[in-house]
Amino acid sequence: MLSVTDAEAIIFDLVQPLRETETVALEDALGRVLATPVRSGLDFPYWDNSAMDGYAVRFEDVRSVPVTLEIIEEIPAGVAPQKTLQVGQAARIFTGAVMPQGADAVVMQENTRREGNQVIIQESSASGAFVRHQGAFYQANTPLLEAGITINAPELAVLATAQCTQLQVYRRPRVAIFSTGDELIPPSGVLQPGQIVDSNQYALAALVWGLGAIPVPLGIIPDCRGELKGAIAQSLKSADIVLSTGGVSVGDYDYIEELLAELGGKIHVRSVAVKPGKPLTVAEFPNCLYFGIPGNPVSALVSGWRFVLPALRKLAGLKDWRPELIYVPTKHQLTAGGKRETYLWGQLNGIEGEYQFSVAGGSHSSGNLINLAGTNALAIVPVGVAEIPAGEKVRVLRV
Ligand code: AMP
Ligand code: MG
Repeated sequence: MLSVTDAEAIIFDLVQPLRETETVALEDALGRVLATPVRSGLDFPYWDNSAMDGYAVRFEDVRSVPVTLEIIEEIPAGVAPQKTLQVGQAARIFTGAVMPQGADAVVMQENTRREGNQVIIQESSASGAFVRHQGAFYQANTPLLEAGITINAPELAVLATAQCTQLQVYRRPRVAIFSTGDELIPPSGVLQPGQIVDSNQYALAALVWGLGAIPVPLGIIPDCRGELKGAIAQSLKSADIVLSTGGVSVGDYDYIEELLAELGGKIHVRSVAVKPGKPLTVAEFPNCLYFGIPGNPVSALVSGWRFVLPALRKLAGLKDWRPELIYVPTKHQLTAGGKRETYLWGQLNGIEGEYQFSVAGGSHSSGNLINLAGTNALAIVPVGVAEIPAGEKVRVLRV
C-alpha cells in the first residue's frame, strides 16, 4: 500500500500537459487555459490621457498661481485633440480624454474658475500631474499574459483591452466516466430492494466540468467481466483520462484491476494508505490514464479531489496544478484511526478575519454522503495521529 505522498508523486508524474492546442475567439475564451504567452502590439494606456476632469496645461504656465489661461479647445473622452497648446493656453479636458500636444499636466477642475473662454488656475499642478502616460502600465510587444493560466474575468478584461481577439489555448481534456455495479440504477429509476442510485457519475462529471474539461458519460456497467472489458476498452478510445467507480476492492465481483492488466494497462497504483478511498487503482495506457476509483460515494469524491483533479489540471496545461494545502485552526476536535491518512470533510470559513475549519456534523464513514453537502475543504489527519484538539492547526485541502 502506497503512502499518499508516494501515490500522488507517481500519479502526477504519469501526466504531461496536452500538446494539442486550438485557436479560440475572445468571446469563447472564458475558462480556457492559455497555451502560449500573449503579447499585444498596443501600449497601455494607448495615449497620454487625463486622469481627471479639469484643464490640460503647460506646467511652465502654472508654476506660479493664480494665472489666467486662454481655453483653446474642449476635449471630451473619445475625441482626438486638434490643437497644440502655446504659451498661456489651456484645453478643457475630461477623464480619459487624450492630452493635447504641448500639454504636460492637468489641473483638476476643483482648483480652477472658469470665466468665459478663460480659466483662472488657482492652485498649481506638478509636472505630469494627473496625466496617465502612454505605455505606463504596459509596453507594446512585451509579455502580457503567461501560458498556463485560466482565462477568467480579469484576464478577459486584459485581453480585450489589448485587442487580443484570437487566443491559442489548450484543447479541453476529455474524461470518460462510468459507474460499475449490478446494484446501480440512474436517479430516475424505480428503486427495487437492494438497489442503489448511482451518484458517482454526477459528482465526478461535476468536478470535470468545473475544470473546463469535457466529461464523456458512459453510463452504468454491470459487474460482468465481458461487459466491463468492453466498456473499459471503449473508454480508453474516447478520452485522455478515464474515471470508473466501483469494482476495485477485493470482492468477488471486483474485476477492474485484472481487466486493466488484460487490456495492456501498466498498473502503477493498487491501493493507497488513505481514508476514505484506499483501493484506488491507477493504470497507464498509451495516451490515456485510467483511475479505478472505489465505489463509495465519499471515497469517489475524496479520490477525485485529492488525486484526479490535480492530475487533470496538469493535463489541461495549468501552471499551478498542484493541490492547494493550507494550515488553519480546526473549530472542533478531529479524530482518526491513525493507520491511514484520513480526510474529514467540512467547511473552511472566514471567522473574524481568520480562516477556520469546521468539520461536517454526522458520520464520516465512507458509506455516508449526505453530510458532504456544503463541503469546500478536507481536513487531513496524518498517519500516526489519532486526534487533533480543537483550536490546533490542521492541514486542509481546499476543494
Ligand atoms: P464497490 O467499490 O463496488 O465495492 O462499492 C462500494 C460501495 O459503494 C457499495 O456499497 C456500492 O453499492 C456503492 N457504490 C458503488 N458505486 C456507486 C455509485 N456509482 N453511486 C453510489 N454508490 C455506489
Ligand atoms: Mg461494486
